[in-house]
Amino acid sequence: MTNTVIPQTDPKAAYLEQRSAIDQAITRVLESGWYILGREVSAFEQEFAAFNGAAHGIGVANGTDALVLGLRALGVGPGDAVVTVSHTAVATVAAVELTGALPVLVDVDACHGMDPDQLEEVLNGRLAGGARLSSPVKAIVPVHLYGHPVALDRIMDIAARFGVPVLEDCSQAHGATFDGRIVGTFGAIAAFSLYPTKNLGALGDGGVLVTNDAALAERLRHLREYGWKERYISHDAGHNSRLDELQAAILRVKLERLGAHNARRQAIAEAYDRGLDGLPLDLPRRRPNTVPVFHQYVVTTPNRDALRTALQARGVMTNIHYPAPVHLQPAYRDRLPLGPGGLPQTERMAGLVLSLPMYPQLGDEAVASVVAALRDVAPTL
Ligand SMILES: *Cc1c(COP(=O)(O)O)cnc(C)c1O
Repeated sequence: MTNTVIPQTDPKAAYLEQRSAIDQAITRVLESGWYILGREVSAFEQEFAAFNGAAHGIGVANGTDALVLGLRALGVGPGDAVVTVSHTAVATVAAVELTGALPVLVDVDACHGMDPDQLEEVLNGRLAGGARLSSPVKAIVPVHLYGHPVALDRIMDIAARFGVPVLEDCSQAHGATFDGRIVGTFGAIAAFSLYPTKNLGALGDGGVLVTNDAALAERLRHLREYGWKERYISHDAGHNSRLDELQAAILRVKLERLGAHNARRQAIAEAYDRGLDGLPLDLPRRRPNTVPVFHQYVVTTPNRDALRTALQARGVMTNIHYPAPVHLQPAYRDRLPLGPGGLPQTERMAGLVLSLPMYPQLGDEAVASVVAALRDVAPTL
């Protein structure tokens, strides 16, 4: 048992780890006199694209905007449908509606990713309750939830057969790989949140997109700033969604450690796997041929709420990602079309999932304390 509280996540620890380099980067920007779309943003865009093996990076204000602009760049708008999931951050679904399009939500598989069979059913026009989809599906948005790549082989194959572009929501999966390749370049575009607790996090809001398509990259650059191709002349009905120079400079410092930080998350996940083996809990499943980056380490148990309370009493903080699927939240309930059969797995998971402490600065002793607390309480519930 520990006296100190172990937080579930700790963005301040990430700042302190690189404090002097981050402080220097901030000073460099303050003294430059250039605060919006300058050298730091361009450099970050190039460095982040290179990290992902992508040709182009486009910085934006946050992850929600990255999804909205990504969809708009693909030509999605009012009258169109977009297939995504309900077992995700609400932003994924909100972004689809912000374009004017209709989100169609499908269920997830045992690794918390979009169910390819359900995707195919919806692309064939079939919905829950025998309804038929009348709007054309203009994009597919799979989410690599918790840092686990979705079944990209099957999803890309289905998308190609139906001729529908894929926008990957990589907000929880910076650096995860599928078949040895970093996620984010399987689809036409990938959107990333850079919220402080993400695998790559700013010290404020931020977002970024990557693509290998030069025309899409150009479109995204216009859309993020009033639709300007040249200054003061809008060619698209645009938006203001710029990444700050300050955040870009901070992100460049943090990007240098992204690989090491992901490796530390994987080491913590392995320690949890070993330490929690045999307890009455389901541990995260790894999809074959993937390297997950454990944005979250999520266990599932019918005793989730009791376990959470007992852990908190021992100073081990946890979180629930997410307590309600999007289609059951007040803003969305009873108004979004669902895939055939409804979303039983999504609805079940919301009652079972529990995210254990997970951040790169979490030390071995703290990991051992989390394991000890779970070994203490899980068998008694
Ligand atoms: C965090 C997150 C977003 C939204 O990002 P913001 O930067 O908060 O707008 C979108 N999708 C997923 C899966 C996320 O985890």
